[in-house]
Amino acid sequence: MTAAVGATRRVGIDVGGTKAQGIALDADNQVVATAHRATPRGPDSLEPLIDTLIDLSRELEHDGSVGVGVPGLVTRDGVLRAAPNLDGVANFEIGGMLSAALGIDVPIDSDATCAALAEWRLGAGVGATDMVMVTLGTGIGGGLVSNGAIQRGANGFAGEFGHMVVDPAGPPCPCGRRGCWERYASGTGLAMLARNAATGGRLGSIVRELGGDAQAVRGEDVQAAARGGDPEALAVIDEFGRWVAIGLSNLTNAVDPELFVLGGGLAQGADLYLGPITSWFEQLIYQPDLRSIPRLEFAKWGPLAGAVGAALLPAEASP
Ligand SMILES: [Zn+2]
Repeated sequence: MTAAVGATRRVGIDVGGTKAQGIALDADNQVVATAHRATPRGPDSLEPLIDTLIDLSRELEHDGSVGVGVPGLVTRDGVLRAAPNLDGVANFEIGGMLSAALGIDVPIDSDATCAALAEWRLGAGVGATDMVMVTLGTGIGGGLVSNGAIQRGANGFAGEFGHMVVDPAGPPCPCGRRGCWERYASGTGLAMLARNAATGGRLGSIVRELGGDAQAVRGEDVQAAARGGDPEALAVIDEFGRWVAIGLSNLTNAVDPELFVLGGGLAQGADLYLGPITSWFEQLIYQPDLRSIPRLEFAKWGPLAGAVGAALLPAEASP
């Protein structure tokens, strides 16, 4: 890891389901370059993926420091065990192959842990000792800072908050269980709550605009109507906020953070969600009179969070 320390141009790459986003950070932690490539897909995509990452690292002119974030369960020694958004690939030895190809140690971590690192070191969580990052996107990812250090757990799988079961009789989750938190509190969850409301006779004005097809109602329709003040749409947003707050209150009991940073695609609707989430969180939290209630902040880095955090991984791994 010594090559990474003191590097003046650190490259981070966030491998997503459709694209690999790269950035370069200078010595002052400024993003000085960005580049992206389509993510190679399919069962034989490991070598094309490694080639893509090498290509991006060279284009971004890394100075001996490269880190990579991946969407899935990644072990502490850089093996991607499972990645549902990469066609279910399993046991990709991505860290070892990339390190050998580039001739430097390339740390690999989950995309959500990378996002947590970006927000903790350079974003909404600067200065926090105990912070939980929750990314609300198609699913829910997470990252954990406890006692001033990123936590990865025994296997490297810490932070899979989206698969906490909040209703054992709830809808099936692709993970094989029922009623996982991300069935309710993600973009997918908002869409389900919207459809349930519409098929249950609510959201009448949206359904009329869609020609009477209640099943066609999407989360975006509810967001737009809520911004226009539609009370039934606002009620769905409130219900969504309650589901987010249920998970946050459970996480508060587990790790007692001072701060939650909320990221992912839904963070772009922060104006709409912060009120309901905060209100429900204050109602649901255990022993509110005996504690300082964790602050809720929205992520600062947006879609670059994973790549920025990945660029910070080598220095984090060798303090
Ligand atoms: Zn699940």
